[in-house]
Amino acid sequence: MPSDITLNNHQPHAEKPLPWWTWIAPLAIIEAGDQISLLFFQDNITSSFYLPTSLGLILVFWWGPLRVFPSLFIVTTLNNYFYGFSSYWIWFGFGLGDSCSIALSWFLFNILLKGKAWMPDTRNLVLFLVFGLAIPITCYAVNWQFMYVLNHNFGWAQFLPHLRRDLLGETIVNIIIVIPTLVFLTPLLSRIGLIPIPPIPVSAFTYLTRKKHTLEVALISAVVLALAFLFDFQDVWFLFGSISLYVAIRFGFDAVLVANVIIFSATYLVPTINHPEFVNAIIEGGNAPIFFGYLLLFLFAAVTGRVISDLRIIERELNAKNKELQQTNVELDRFVYSASHDMSAPLKSIRGLVNVGLLTKPTAEQEDYWRKIEKSARKLEDFIDEVLHYSRNNRTELVLEELNIKQLCEEIFSHLRYFNEGNAPGIVFDHSANRTIIADRSRLKIILNNLLSNAIKYQKKDSSHHPLISISLREDEDRVTIRIDDNGEGIPIEIQPSVFKMFYRGNLKSTGSGLGLYIALEAANKMGGKITFQSEYGKGSTFMVELPNQ
Ligand code: ADP
Repeated sequence: MPSDITLNNHQPHAEKPLPWWTWIAPLAIIEAGDQISLLFFQDNITSSFYLPTSLGLILVFWWGPLRVFPSLFIVTTLNNYFYGFSSYWIWFGFGLGDSCSIALSWFLFNILLKGKAWMPDTRNLVLFLVFGLAIPITCYAVNWQFMYVLNHNFGWAQFLPHLRRDLLGETIVNIIIVIPTLVFLTPLLSRIGLIPIPPIPVSAFTYLTRKKHTLEVALISAVVLALAFLFDFQDVWFLFGSISLYVAIRFGFDAVLVANVIIFSATYLVPTINHPEFVNAIIEGGNAPIFFGYLLLFLFAAVTGRVISDLRIIERELNAKNKELQQTNVELDRFVYSASHDMSAPLKSIRGLVNVGLLTKPTAEQEDYWRKIEKSARKLEDFIDEVLHYSRNNRTELVLEELNIKQLCEEIFSHLRYFNEGNAPGIVFDHSANRTIIADRSRLKIILNNLLSNAIKYQKKDSSHHPLISISLREDEDRVTIRIDDNGEGIPIEIQPSVFKMFYRGNLKSTGSGLGLYIALEAANKMGGKITFQSEYGKGSTFMVELPNQ
């Protein structure tokens, strides 16, 4: 399933073309925004809630510069009539500055950085804050100051203080308007085909639909409103930032955006409606750092919210992948088990038929063929047994019981078919082996079966050799160790690191599948234990099974 992280707004896709009205809608939208801005006219030259650039930014990321640039240019040029600027070249100066800054932002973020304006992850949010907001706002705000000075609205001395005021106001307005709109509406518009971006999953407001959070969100909003209306902004500004940070950590990105809108509306928009010189008053009262601190807290809260949401998305994806993996493992195991199981029956009948064939007085040549078929069938049977052991070890839970090691080994020896091949090995049980330990019978049997059969299989083959296997048990407070010594051919030092690997056969004469030690170790691990060994080539080997003392 594609996630919002993997979608890219630049990938080619066969979407239907945008409706014709998207060519003229920007003009109407930006003009409407401009009329609203005029309600916030301050100090006779500017608006403290200037919307055309914010709306231009949103629209350019939806519909591209061809549709948006001309409308933005027309509105931001002609609106100077309402702002009372008399010289026409100043009109063009404002218009060009605003629309070029927005086009620059689109070029840098969308084209150069291939950013996603709906900010689906931390990287995109941070890039957007820099290239989607900081750069265009700085560009057009600087341009404004030049225009004001050239138009003699104020002198050069006012350039920087006025720039600072405009940057603050513009950043706040853009955070309220641009980021939430792009984050919440882009997925919706992509779904109904109103923007040329493939459908993006809608994640917005999911936290609000969770009932247990609704009360908390309502409470937070109430606290914000109470703080905003009952206290002086200068006294409680840091509390707003802290609330925003709390919401970010608790609920993530979508929630912190909504919280920021509520807080900014209560602390900036409403006071500005009542008193358009609100920002001026704070800054001129020497409180500009307060406003910067306030703004930075919100930016950090937004980034924190994004990081928290990213972590949650990754966690969710990881959990889903884990579940899928577990399911696949279970299915694979079931398949291996039933396939091996189903192969056993035909193999048994092959061996039965071989025995019948051997009874029919075959010629020497025919008997040789029968024996070879029997040997191959046995080999296959051994392999299937090992696979079944492996699968059983994976599937079944531990069943602990008291086990006498000597008895268990004798039982195993009685079933080992290599026992009668070559010189029969001498078996020595140390008296310690005649003790009971608490362990899982079937797993311990798998382990001992492999180790004992190896101790027999890998004996020296010359007739003068007297194979010897000794078994002993050592017990201390937290471990029991079963020790199996053989005086067989030993394991060459260079292959010792590999003997526990799956399908590893270290011996050309080995008739096994190379699974034995691998499965034995898996079974020991499952019981919370391990298998170690020491071996000297030509002298013999010692294998030690360490299990927790239950
Ligand atoms: P298999 O016996 O089917 O080849 P195992 O996993 O049981 O596979 O053993 C891997 C390899 O380790 C063997 O091929 C053999 O070379 C070596 N090996 C294991 N046990 C002994 C032993 N007791 N003495 C000598 N070599 C051994």
